[in-house]
Order: sequence, then structure tokens, then C-alpha cells
Amino acid sequence: LSCPINRTDRGRKTYPDTVVDRAHASGVNKLICVGCDLEDSKLAIDYVAKHDQTWASIGIHPHEAKHFSEDLAKQEKFRALTGSLKVVAIGECGLDYYYNHSDKADQIKVLEIQLQLAEDSNLPVIFHVREALDDFWPIFDNFTSIKGVLHSYTDNLANLEQGLKRGLHFGVNGIATFTKKEDQLAVYKQIPTSNLLLETDAPFLTPIPYRGTINEPSKVEIIARFIAECRGEDLTSLAHATSSNACKLFGI
Ligand SMILES: [Zn+2]
Repeated sequence: LSCPINRTDRGRKTYPDTVVDRAHASGVNKLICVGCDLEDSKLAIDYVAKHDQTWASIGIHPHEAKHFSEDLAKQEKFRALTGSLKVVAIGECGLDYYYNHSDKADQIKVLEIQLQLAEDSNLPVIFHVREALDDFWPIFDNFTSIKGVLHSYTDNLANLEQGLKRGLHFGVNGIATFTKKEDQLAVYKQIPTSNLLLETDAPFLTPIPYRGTINEPSKVEIIARFIAECRGEDLTSLAHATSSNACKLFGI
């Protein structure tokens, strides 16, 4: 198993080394540590420099877009990070119209900056798009040959089709274990195995039965078991397939 999404623990700003050990012990061999703003992305890069079998993604989350859209110095520093060792993706980036912590215009601008960067640096993208896919598709389509994953996918079947048409992957996490929405589980069953990734979204979205505790990469095993059962698939084949998808997408 690999863990495509593992955000740094921004609350604590510390990264216990034992997280990686526990992940490896649970069969999660490769981890991507995901940045959500400039500082967070630097922390991800520092963290993965110290740990084998870990890689970094650098991104400006839509929540943070207002602090980035007009700051040219910050944009320049961010751009420079693409050249850092073990950076394998751009993201989280995208649009979040559920929380709207930044104006839509700022969110769109910062998404476009990162899509351009992904194209220039030939890196895949980890997208965070919540209640905003109608606006997202035309922006995405202005760029060519962008590969990536819609992380924490909780949207509908129609948008699953839209994403598949564009060759995107879909990240499924602990939400699957605690959602009360039957149609959500139905969507998870429709994601082709070739486009499926498993993620933790650590430190958030801890799967059942560990709700209320900090999520971490070792928990991706629980998600794998749940999804395999939900889809009626063999756990080992699902684990191999999703790991191989992640390795190919991120080149790890
Ligand atoms: Zn996210």
C-alpha cells in the first residue's frame, strides 16, 4: 500500500518519526507529505529529506489563496520549491466553495498559477475541489496534459464521468467508513480500479473505529479493507492496484 495523501500536521508543527515506522509496520510503504501553503510546503520538503520512502507535494490550498494571489515575492519563492529534492507533485490546490475562506477570484487565480507551474515543471497535481467542479472544469481544460488526482472525492457520478474523461484519478479516504450517504458509497463502487487512489488526508478524516484521534498514514490500511469490501474486491489486489496507480502517477 502507498499513501498518496498525507498532509503535514500543521497544528503541531512537529513530525514524530514514529509515524513513518507505524506506517511501514501496517504495510504502508510509501508516503507523500502534502503542503497547503508556502511554509507548510517547506516543512513537507524538510520532513521528507529526513525519511526514506517519503516524498513531498507543494501547494497553496484554496483556503490560503487570499494570502498568495497578490504576493509576487511569495509566488516566486513557491515556484523555486519545485526544484527541491523529492518534490513529486503540486497541491493541494483547487477551489473550495463550501468554506469560501478566500474569495472565488483569489481561489481561481491561485489555481491557475499552480496549473501553469504543474505544466512548466511536468509535475502531477493533487486537487482539492469542494462544491466547485462546475467552475473547475473549464479552468482545468485551459491547460493541456495535466495529470492528477481529485483528492477526497465526494462529488457525484456525473463529475466522476467528467474526471474520467480527462484521465484524472480519484482519492478515497476515511470518509468512506463514516459517511451516511448511500449514493456516496455507490460512487466509490463506480471508480474504475485504474483510476482509484487511497489516501488518509492525515491528520484529518480518521476512519472508524478511530474517530476522535489524529489520523496518520498507518490508517490507510483500514480504508483499503473497507473499500475492498464495499467494492467486493480482493484486498491484496486492490492494495497492489492502488499502490501501483500512485507510484505511476507520482513517479515514486
Ligand atoms: Zn483537501
